[in-house]
Amino acid sequence: MTDVQYCVRCLYPETHPLGLVLDEKGVCSGCRIHEEKDELDWAERFARLEKLVAPYRSNSGLRYDCIVPISGGRDSYFVVETVVRRLGLNPLLVSYNRHYNTAISHRNIAYLRTIFDCDYLQQTLSPDTVRALCKRTLDLCGSFHWHTIAGQTVWPVQCAVRFRVPLIIWGAHQGVDQVGMFSHLDEVEMSRWYRKNHDLMGFEPEDIVDKGDGLLERDIAPLFYPDDADLSAVGVRGIYLNNYIRWDTKAQHERTIADYGEETATLARTFDRYNNVDCVHFAGIHDAIKVAKHGYGLARDHACREIRLKRLTREEGLALAEDYESRPVTDEKMLLDWLGMSCSDFWARIDRHRDSRIWRRSEGDWLRIDRQIHPDPDACALHAIGKIAEADFSAHSQRSSDDESYRVFSRGYV
Ligand SMILES: [Zn+2]
Repeated sequence: MTDVQYCVRCLYPETHPLGLVLDEKGVCSGCRIHEEKDELDWAERFARLEKLVAPYRSNSGLRYDCIVPISGGRDSYFVVETVVRRLGLNPLLVSYNRHYNTAISHRNIAYLRTIFDCDYLQQTLSPDTVRALCKRTLDLCGSFHWHTIAGQTVWPVQCAVRFRVPLIIWGAHQGVDQVGMFSHLDEVEMSRWYRKNHDLMGFEPEDIVDKGDGLLERDIAPLFYPDDADLSAVGVRGIYLNNYIRWDTKAQHERTIADYGEETATLARTFDRYNNVDCVHFAGIHDAIKVAKHGYGLARDHACREIRLKRLTREEGLALAEDYESRPVTDEKMLLDWLGMSCSDFWARIDRHRDSRIWRRSEGDWLRIDRQIHPDPDACALHAIGKIAEADFSAHSQRSSDDESYRVFSRGYV
């Protein structure tokens, strides 16, 4: 057995892939930084944000004030509402096409750009390139989702350079909100360093060109980070709203659902029905891979967040996480058919990336070898933060895509 430690307040192990440390009391850095949410003066923080963005407003009105990355889920409505209605900015909305979009994703984006009267630009790579990239990164880091992260983290930066719009406004920085790598007071900004080492698991697109499988530089150049000279010529910077707004994705979604009809859905492998409704695989086969590699899944991310926001006890969160982490995967065949890959080939590539502190192979099966998840109950009780509300998430979907009006965007056939 290995002695992997788990936080006594939330459910994260010290092996969290984004990097997380436990203090002498056994509480993780994510939980400690989260305490700032109840300590900081958020009115003052928002005033700082207003001051920060003011110089970027286009006086002539001839160019966009900022770039705002969106998806069909994950706080997109809240971020755009904040930028347009509270900060009074004129954004260019941008998104990278992950290819595994749900119908809800398309509808949420369509209504979002219409309701807020925004221009919108999407990057879509060729399906053959995406397929080849998926195979390559399954080998390299056990992920078919890597190209999505690469695209989402660079397309907005390329748009900033191309349209000479220096300011990019993102939603939450996971290094702050999930693992407490930075304080809110650090006001951490977007960087190529963080993208490579945390978002992209240590690889840049430049590292995977020309390995003999026909994936050429010209195919994946859209995923390359712009040169420093181009970034400084425009003065590009990316800021994160969760450094200036007390981030509570559940409360944020519930208001934008009520005010703008944002659609949500029941998902296969998490109880959060708001954040990941835009992707067919994120709460499916992608999550099964996450469990295989790191020993925990998306439901545990959501449970940790809800424990910190006082809507779940540790025991309730653990029960939810363990339940969803063991649920069946229903979307694997769809992905394998699209990749043209057998199940055994697919899982052989992933098995190479299992965390050896968590898993050991024994007679063909993978066994957990960490001591598991149940730290000292007295320490857990001592550092529990109580519960003041329920973590109930509901699915809302009143819209339909089968009307006869013009279709500005529709599905792509691959
Ligand atoms: Zn914790």
